[in-house]
Amino acid sequence: MSNLSPETVRKAISDHPDPETGRGLDSMGQIKEIVVDQGNAALTLGLTSHSAPIADELSDALESKIVAAAPGSTVTITYVDHPRPPARIGQIALKAKSVIAVGSGKGGVGKSTVAASLALTLRRYGAKVGLMDADVYGPSIPQLLGLSGRPAITAQKRIDPIKLDNDLPVMSMGFLVEPDQAVIWRGPMLHGSINQFLGDTDWGDLDYLIIDMPPGTGDVALTLSQALPLAGAVIVCTPQEVALLDAIKAVSMFRKVEIPILGMVENMSGFQCPDCGKTYDIFGKGGARQKAEELNVPFLGGLPIDITLRTAGDEGKLADVIQSNDASRAPFDAICKAVVRELATRAANQPTKVSLPTL
Ligand code: ADP
Repeated sequence: MSNLSPETVRKAISDHPDPETGRGLDSMGQIKEIVVDQGNAALTLGLTSHSAPIADELSDALESKIVAAAPGSTVTITYVDHPRPPARIGQIALKAKSVIAVGSGKGGVGKSTVAASLALTLRRYGAKVGLMDADVYGPSIPQLLGLSGRPAITAQKRIDPIKLDNDLPVMSMGFLVEPDQAVIWRGPMLHGSINQFLGDTDWGDLDYLIIDMPPGTGDVALTLSQALPLAGAVIVCTPQEVALLDAIKAVSMFRKVEIPILGMVENMSGFQCPDCGKTYDIFGKGGARQKAEELNVPFLGGLPIDITLRTAGDEGKLADVIQSNDASRAPFDAICKAVVRELATRAANQPTKVSLPTL
């Protein structure tokens, strides 16, 4: 006979941290209903779209707590949306909950592919996402997503970003200059443009703003760190030793401007031959995981060389792959969850203070 009751259930989970704020689920008003019937607990919980990618993991954690408190019981969890608008952050008053920079030590390692796919995967899980291409020296986000056109200026003199499928706002220098037109950036101009992209664009209310950083140099990272608090940076590298040395540079660059490192992604780790199914480690494998450990930063996952990704990127159809190709999107699902899990761990260690957002 199980000791399951609504009180036992509430007690078991009330202090479990809401993944977004790190504060107890009960104190945040997210336990909506608990119905107990013959050894089964049916819970209705509120979850913000920011946490949606790790809803399954939250269910698993809550289920184990309930079963530990009332052995032998079964648990059914249903989520309902728990709207919570973002506060305005930084001196530019951006309405976003988590701003994530995606960087690398050098070009061509798949940084833009990872940045765009992370944005697309977060969106697929239901989060509200914006994507800013700050790789001003070689903006490739418009190409990867098949976007073109010029952002309009609204009556309020704000920039109306180009939207993918009407719901993912994207800003890129690629929308403002011709593809073959070289842009020479002087420091103050770069600083001004990045601030304008961030602050003058109508992003709407965002759970995540993903920023594709230029490789290597620290100028843009410095500008960003002055403009607003970043949740952290994701570093993309390949397993080769040289690329890893570059990745170390990227880590120290972000650390210098006090942007926390969310973790490392190893791209091009292994190639599965479509003809014979055999996996070849063209650039070696596992180097980033080892380096991440040495540098004391989380390893967020690996991404194999995938011809589908390359052709989709060339054709501007990366969004289609993330939307519907199970095999190609699987590594991104894992990376996306690892990022959101990392944010949740940080929130649990340092819960946000309750503050009412300015609407
Ligand atoms: P970066 O932003 O680091 O310069 P990109 O994301 O633009 O790199 O990627 C460079 C090229 O490599 C693109 O053609 C892209 O489609 C391809 N690419 C990136 N990652 C992969 C991968 N895992 N498998 C196959 N092609 C990839």
